Amino acid sequence: MSIVIAVDGTAASGKGTLAKKLAAHFGFAHLDSGALYRLTALAVIEANGDPKAEADALRGAQTLDFNRAGDPKIRTDIVGQAASYVAAIPAVRAALLDFQRSFLAQPPGGSPGAVMDGRDIGTVIAPDATAKLYIDARPEIRARRRWQELKTMGIRREEGDLLRELNARDAADKSRPVSPLVQAPDAGLLDTSDLGIDAAFAAALDLVSPKIESALKDRQRG
Ligand code: C5P
Repeated sequence: MSIVIAVDGTAASGKGTLAKKLAAHFGFAHLDSGALYRLTALAVIEANGDPKAEADALRGAQTLDFNRAGDPKIRTDIVGQAASYVAAIPAVRAALLDFQRSFLAQPPGGSPGAVMDGRDIGTVIAPDATAKLYIDARPEIRARRRWQELKTMGIRREEGDLLRELNARDAADKSRPVSPLVQAPDAGLLDTSDLGIDAAFAAALDLVSPKIESALKDRQRG
């Protein structure tokens, strides 16, 4: 089994940025599991399907093109919302499970570990992860960050609308019956509301480093 850091949390909490930085720090592979749900949603939308319909959503999960993980189209709010719909369908989650577990079991590039961020990584995908984080921030702060991120992409949105959308998506993710977003009992909680990127990363590192360094030492001893 490889060394695994599970990073879960609310939308626009900074979990993706932190997961990427943790992976770079430890030389681990990184997977943004949200991209799988977003790619599924994109496949459904492009096929003129309904993201709430099981058959359409499952077809999307089975035909998603991982080569498009960098496509800016999957970052739009329409796709984010549709991703939340397809993610509530158990058959979709089951279809994406093997890909995520295989990534963690054998991280690409022969890396000794992997960092995966999402909603159910520490609870469902990798309950035995070496270290777990739960990232959150106040909704107003997350809406502002999202507003700024969209602005740099040339997209102008009302901050109030973004706040309503974030709250609605979090509520749906937390209340769905299958794999709801919840802090795993053994996950370290990190609130990034009042932290810049560097301070948030330092705090994340403080929380996971003891477990990861000790797992790396165990591996070296063989
Ligand atoms: O993290 P991101 O905003 O890209 O995720 C988009 C949507 O995908 C989330 O709102 C959630 O519904 C779903 N998702 C999930 N489980 C994951 C990752 C994302 O249900 N592990």
